[in-house]
Amino acid sequence: MKIIKVAQEWLGACSGCEIAMLNMGEKFFDLLKKIEMVHMPLLFDHKTFDEFQDAEIEISIVSGCVISEEHLHLLKKIREKSQKLCALGTCATHGGIPSLLNSWSTDAALKEIFSSNSKKDHLTFPNKDLSGFLDRVYALDEFVEVDILLPGCPPRPSLIREFLSKLIKGDFPSLPNKSVCDTCPTLRFGKGRKGIIKRAMENPEYDPNEPIEKMHCFLEQGYLCMGPVTLAGCAFYDAPPCIKARTPCRGCYGPVYSDGNQMLEMMNALASVGIEWKTIIDRRSLLRFSGAHGLLRPYPGSK
Ligand code: SF4
Ligand code: SF4
Ligand code: SF4
Repeated sequence: MKIIKVAQEWLGACSGCEIAMLNMGEKFFDLLKKIEMVHMPLLFDHKTFDEFQDAEIEISIVSGCVISEEHLHLLKKIREKSQKLCALGTCATHGGIPSLLNSWSTDAALKEIFSSNSKKDHLTFPNKDLSGFLDRVYALDEFVEVDILLPGCPPRPSLIREFLSKLIKGDFPSLPNKSVCDTCPTLRFGKGRKGIIKRAMENPEYDPNEPIEKMHCFLEQGYLCMGPVTLAGCAFYDAPPCIKARTPCRGCYGPVYSDGNQMLEMMNALASVGIEWKTIIDRRSLLRFSGAHGLLRPYPGSK
C-alpha cells in the first residue's frame, strides 16, 4: 500500500483547527496507517515549514489566515512543494475571525491593540518593527491556488476525517452548496413577527421540554440567525449543533458559495422574512467569519 505524505501548517491560526483534527480520536490512528505526517507544528519539533526540508508532499493542509510576510513566505513554499493544498478552517478559506481586523487599517489596529491608558511602560506601543504585517488579513486563495476548501470554525472532526479519507484516495472532496437553513428542523411560517432584529439579551421563545422541531425559527422570531447564508458543513448527519443548543447560527462555516458575500445575502434573507436590515446595529458583524477577499474594508477615516 502506498503511504501518502501529508504536511500540516498553521498560519494566522488559533490552533482550534488542529485540535479538531486530533479530536478525530482513535479514528485518526486509522488514517495514520495510510499516511505519513511529515510536518505538523502542534505535534512535531520542527515548528515551521522552513525547518522541514523534504521532497514533494502529496497533501498539505493549511489552517489560518495570511496577515504577515512570514505567513506569505510559508504559504508560497508549501504550495510549491505540494501536489494538493487543502485550506482548513474558515480563517484559511474566508479570513475567519481575524479578518474582523480588516475594519481598520493595520496601523490603526496595531495602535489599538498595543496602546493603553495604563502608565505601565511595557503596555505602550512597541517602537521596533513588528515583523512585516501585510495591509490586511487575507484568505489563502488570494495568494496561491487552493485545491480543496474545508471551512468551519473549526470544521467538525468527522468532516475532516471524511475529507482526508477522500484526499488519500485521490479525490477532490467538496461540500454541497446547502445552507444551514436547508438542514434546520425548526418551524417556519415565512414571515417575521415584528419586522425588527431583537437584541440578543432577550431570550427566544421555545419550550425546553419540546423537541427542536417544535421551536419557531430564530430569524422569524426576530433574532439574527445566519443560517440562510451559511454553508451547512456542521449539519450533515444531524440538525445544526447551535440550533439544537437553542442558539442562533453565527455563520462559522462562511458563505454557502465560496465566493459569496454573507452581508449582502443576509440583507436579502432578512427582507424575505419581513425584517428591516437597518435595525442591525453593526452590519459589519455579518462578515465576522468572512471578511477577507476585500469584503470587509476599513471604517472611513481609519488610518
Ligand atoms: S477557523 Fe476557527 S478554529 Fe480554525 S484557526 Fe481559525 S479561529 Fe481557530
Ligand atoms: S434562520 Fe436559523 S433557526 Fe431559522 S431555519 Fe435557518 S438556521 Fe433554522
Ligand atoms: S450552526 Fe452556524 S455557527 Fe453553529 S456550527 Fe453550524 S455553521 Fe457554525
